[in-house]
Amino acid sequence: MAKVLVVGGGGREHAIAKAMLASPQVGTVYCAPGNPGMVADGIQTIAIDELDFAGLADFARANLVAVTFVGPEVPLAAGIVDYFQAAGLAIFGPNQAAAQLESSKVFAKDFMQRHQIPTAAYQQFHELAPALAYSQQQSLPQVIKVDGLAAGKGVTVATSYEQAATALTDAFENSSTVLIEDYVDGFEFSQMVLVGGDRYVLLPTAQDHKRLQDHDRGPNTGGMGAYSPVPQITPAIIQQTVTTIVEPTIAGLKADGLSFEGVIYVGGILTADGVQVIEYNLRLGDPETQILLPQLQSDFYQVIVDLLQHRQPHAEWQTVSSYLGVVLAAPGYPGKAQAGVPVPTLAGADYASVAGTPDQLVSAGGRVMMVTASAASLAGAQKAVYRQINQLAVGDLIYRHDIGAKGIAATTD
Ligand code: AMP
Repeated sequence: MAKVLVVGGGGREHAIAKAMLASPQVGTVYCAPGNPGMVADGIQTIAIDELDFAGLADFARANLVAVTFVGPEVPLAAGIVDYFQAAGLAIFGPNQAAAQLESSKVFAKDFMQRHQIPTAAYQQFHELAPALAYSQQQSLPQVIKVDGLAAGKGVTVATSYEQAATALTDAFENSSTVLIEDYVDGFEFSQMVLVGGDRYVLLPTAQDHKRLQDHDRGPNTGGMGAYSPVPQITPAIIQQTVTTIVEPTIAGLKADGLSFEGVIYVGGILTADGVQVIEYNLRLGDPETQILLPQLQSDFYQVIVDLLQHRQPHAEWQTVSSYLGVVLAAPGYPGKAQAGVPVPTLAGADYASVAGTPDQLVSAGGRVMMVTASAASLAGAQKAVYRQINQLAVGDLIYRHDIGAKGIAATTD
């Protein structure tokens, strides 16, 4: 039986580890560092930091790990894949050069321009004064982006020039490169793709909910809930996304000498003129993964092994149900989250920033768990999730009450 190592410790990694464990070929799944909420599902957590590449590679070698799957962006941007490949170890994820498509917004914008992939117009700046001058000349809203990984928090959609000026001033305190981008009006969705060289597997569409509070109010977060598939994104729109974005991206990576085995996550926006790219991520989304991987009816481990060898995998996804998940977070998130708040245990939930023991979990960071359900309709899945949450001792944990509302509105029109 094969052994798999999942790198990371959040809800996404919990879902990846469960999908790997469901393979009849996999006997053991390690998760480094993992979290104590995973243990009840039979995942073995290993106390090695996701940036301790030598420790992780030594562990993989010593334990005869067949495949390592990297969840989060930080170790990818720091070059974990290059490290493992140099050590002759099989790993699923982009190398450091390709990971720039996520870790540098300027790199991504140049890439899209070079390969004619639709995205908003932008300018980049290295100093505050010319950025402020440009901002004043542009229409509102306008979008200010810090160049670099910011855990979903490096973007401001400014609706006034004062707000733009404040965002620019803050941005230059955190980064030497800042982008001002045209605002794109449309419906956001995620299209993730598992790739291995030229071969790829499309995942179902999903929609994340970045804002902290109901009705998309409050600050941006890492993501407060998700649903899939997205009813507004019809097969024709998916086909357009594949033709104008997914395939040109894969071809562009190859042309630039950046082909890899890993994930391309298209943060897409459906506009009056078609689908555009808001951002690329080079890893699975969190929280979308928690409602995407349960839809795979094929052997996830085999899909990844095939992609690592550039073979077209057999990947079948369910087509009859809707999946929805709601994230519970510690009070204070996305600012300083309160540690030590009790977190309920629930079979089937995906755990994230928790500490304590498997039967007495407490918060250790912002997002602590995600409750998911599936049903014949999106409204049914939403009801099933909130019914479960209402039966939990959620205490002071915070969560949104309207996850899936936009999708449900589309299906009841
Ligand atoms: P990003 O980190 O680039 O995905 O941006 C975070 C969020 O900011 C996105 O999910 C969008 O809601 C919003 N956003 C980013 N860029 C734009 C844009 N050009 N037009 C409108 N909204 C944007």
